[in-house]
Amino acid sequence: MKKILLVIAFTGLVSGWAHTMDKPVDRVVAVTFDDLPSVPSYSVVALREVTKKLLQSITSNQVPVVAFVNEQKLHERGELAERTSILKMWLDAGIELGNHTYSHSRFYNTPLEKFEEDVIRGEEVTKQLLAQKGLLLRYFRHPTLNTGPNLESKRAFEKFLAARGYAVAPVTVDNSEWILARVYAEARAKGDRALMKRVSDSYAPYLEEMFAFYEKLSADVLGYEVRQVLLVHANALNADHFDDVVKMLRRRGYRFISLEEALKDPAYSLPDEYTGPVGISWLQRWMITKGSEMRPEPSLPETMKEFDNTSASGSAFKTNTGKTNTGKTNTGKTNTGKTNTDKTNTDKTNTDKTKTGKTKTGKTKTGKTKTGQKN
Ligand SMILES: [Zn+2]
Repeated sequence: MKKILLVIAFTGLVSGWAHTMDKPVDRVVAVTFDDLPSVPSYSVVALREVTKKLLQSITSNQVPVVAFVNEQKLHERGELAERTSILKMWLDAGIELGNHTYSHSRFYNTPLEKFEEDVIRGEEVTKQLLAQKGLLLRYFRHPTLNTGPNLESKRAFEKFLAARGYAVAPVTVDNSEWILARVYAEARAKGDRALMKRVSDSYAPYLEEMFAFYEKLSADVLGYEVRQVLLVHANALNADHFDDVVKMLRRRGYRFISLEEALKDPAYSLPDEYTGPVGISWLQRWMITKGSEMRPEPSLPETMKEFDNTSASGSAFKTNTGKTNTGKTNTGKTNTGKTNTDKTNTDKTNTDKTKTGKTKTGKTKTGKTKTGQKN
């Protein structure tokens, strides 16, 4: 008996979690795709093509994935049946689907009740499709990673989710892949091969930089590298280049695990009291909740900077500074330099300028927020 326990303990050490700081023996990541059936909107034929290629990449690399749906997109051009068939392609590839709200509304400027309605409305088709596979709809991903305007709404919404049987799908490796993907899609539509190449050359190296950043942040915040959760989107960039990302991650020592496995990391039960207009990594949230300031994140690659519409991406806020908005924390107060200026509740391009995180010097910076296009 003792021997068996020893063997188990030893196996746990080798395959598991407790890796040392200097030698990350077992890096693991769960990959999630958002905004299904795809961004941007394609014809059904194009959608089928992009989806087929992306799924081929995911399955041939044996990457477990959970993918998040905005059902509003299924109704485009009156093609509900055709667009729903795209979701079936994901399920037939063995991929689990989650809810990303019906319309991709942003919690920060959507009243709680309306936001909850958007969740329920986002269940209709997906729930049925999952049921046909004997699965339950169990994961929720916040659009733009926005978890609410204040702690009260955030907590109320968490209760709502739990009562409907959802687990929140957090993200640790947040990034601006969606900006690169937007440029790529536009270049592709125009047949601009040079620009497509410029984007694709920068993609995996950019994500590698983001991984390096969050690995370090994790080590600093938690004392080890968390079971990472990567957020990317269902788009042509990944259809053509997700293979490069997989290759880069394997080279970095990553194994791919399911979201369910990732969420067993005890870090995901740590308190998170962050609220505010900008969606950020859960690693940043845990750090902020402990009383530290947000750490500035790497910006887009030099070759891509001209495409960063900071008013839409929140990147000015995320990269400039640690100072922020955020708040604080131990006291249970939240943060936020929010202002009341944000109008609208659309996920479109609302450029609500909000947030004015003051800097130490008392200057304000205007980290603008991002839009719902993102995430
Ligand atoms: Zn999204």
